[in-house]
Amino acid sequence: MDVQKTAQQICEIGARLYNKQLVAAAEGNISVRTGENEILITPAGVCKGRMSPSMLLRCNLQGEALESNAGYQPSSEIRMHLRVYLDCPHANAVVHAHPPVATAFSVHNTVLNSEGLPNLANKLDSVPVCPYARPGTEEVPASIAPYLPTHRALLLAKHGAPTWAENLECAYSLMESIERIAKGRA
Ligand SMILES: [Zn+2]
Repeated sequence: MDVQKTAQQICEIGARLYNKQLVAAAEGNISVRTGENEILITPAGVCKGRMSPSMLLRCNLQGEALESNAGYQPSSEIRMHLRVYLDCPHANAVVHAHPPVATAFSVHNTVLNSEGLPNLANKLDSVPVCPYARPGTEEVPASIAPYLPTHRALLLAKHGAPTWAENLECAYSLMESIERIAKGRA
């Protein structure tokens, strides 16, 4: 895998998340599996609309940095990303965002489904709500574990959503679809 090209693509997807208002300020995080035991992940505390490839971090599937990157730390949600890679063999990319309408559904603990929205039904059947877990803690991977690997998108109660897929474009596309479904249900 061309890590440099992947880094560029992560920055582009970050800009799309930000421009589509699926994240605000420094919210959200993105990772791509770049090897058997390696991912590239976005840094903590940086606006996803203004990232450059040199800000990204290479980590192993144990969450350890493979090289130092002065001034940048891996996303605080890295444990959630790692849990997806460990439990979903087909997952090569994970996107986490706070799509506003879908997040409102998570506050009311309402499962999203694509029934009646046929153009979306082939992408996502249902998006369950995982029990509340404090963002950035070990509680988050524990809360999503029971729903892996049978889903490709989840809502985190009172928080936001992770999506994952074979590649980054598809994982991003699922995030757009979640918000689209939520708007259709609102
Ligand atoms: Zn979040």
